[in-house]
Amino acid sequence: MPQAETAREARARTTLAVMVHGARDLRLAEIPVPVPGPGQVEIAIGAGGICGSDLHYYLEGRIGAIVVREPLVLGHEIAGTITAIGPAVEALKLGDRVAINPGLACGECRYCRAGLRLHCLDMRFYGSAMRYPHVHGGFRKVLVAEARQCVSLPADFDLTKAAFAEPLAVCLHAVERAGPLQGRNVLVTGCGPIGALTILAARHAGAARITATDVSAKALALARRIGADETIDVAAAPERLAALAANKGTFDVAFECAGAAPALRGALEATRARGILVLVGIGGEMQLAMSVAVAKELDLRGTFRFDGEFDQAVAALVSGRIDPAPLLTDVIPIEEARRAFDLAADKARAMKVQLSFA
Ligand SMILES: [Zn+2]
Ligand SMILES: [Zn+2]
Repeated sequence: MPQAETAREARARTTLAVMVHGARDLRLAEIPVPVPGPGQVEIAIGAGGICGSDLHYYLEGRIGAIVVREPLVLGHEIAGTITAIGPAVEALKLGDRVAINPGLACGECRYCRAGLRLHCLDMRFYGSAMRYPHVHGGFRKVLVAEARQCVSLPADFDLTKAAFAEPLAVCLHAVERAGPLQGRNVLVTGCGPIGALTILAARHAGAARITATDVSAKALALARRIGADETIDVAAAPERLAALAANKGTFDVAFECAGAAPALRGALEATRARGILVLVGIGGEMQLAMSVAVAKELDLRGTFRFDGEFDQAVAALVSGRIDPAPLLTDVIPIEEARRAFDLAADKARAMKVQLSFA
């Protein structure tokens, strides 16, 4: 009898997860749930946002040179509720709602020691094929994570909002890379979820004026709704951005969030001399008019992921100082993950699509 009990228990310890096997090959699978070890907690995932990187893995089976080499659980924009606590966990308790930081730095490499954990040489980031074996992600009903990855939320805090902590952290970090925005004239090129959250983050940081560009009227309407002062449809009216490139450009700071060559070119032209161009979108190999960057003495700054900004993002969401709710267009059950991914890939229909896990 005890043996049968154990066998049944062993069978019960699996959970439904979304795995990518290769390009256009997304499957639901039951995967094992470990018992939380020291310093770990078990979390019932409540909300999971589908990110551009998840879509690359789904549509192409890769992000540039980073290739899916074994089935990978996707997802890194996640929030949930604590359902079990391992030994030596003090800061969390059963029933706590948490936003989960998907990045685990090693704490020991030269970047970690220098306080630059986001450049950790041994970073374990959820749902990423960068390492092999890959680091599985959080699109699963039950996740066991390190307690130190969890940031507590108020009781009953909306988990769909909490699942914006990760992409918002990316944008807060991009803003941090730009330096002070107080009183600055800012351009945001590309108004997908990252562009839209960058608009919110730039406004929060005190930008005086924000102009946003995209090729989708729907994305631009959202940009206006969340606080862009001016929007330019660069497909319908490219001359409007071109006019802002006159006299060595207009913008003190530009955030290139599209990861597309025409958007980068537009941002480069429209940024004023000695301005700062922050490269947020990941566009692979692109040509750049270096003579423009040189002659205008532009600062080109990369930005990647985040570090302490994750906690800042949670604080901004909890206080309501940044409200990402207008970005959330769809919530779809994990059982229909493929439909959710197809919808998320359709920019004409969706902005941020989240999975639900009930
Ligand atoms: Zn993301
Ligand atoms: Zn490290």
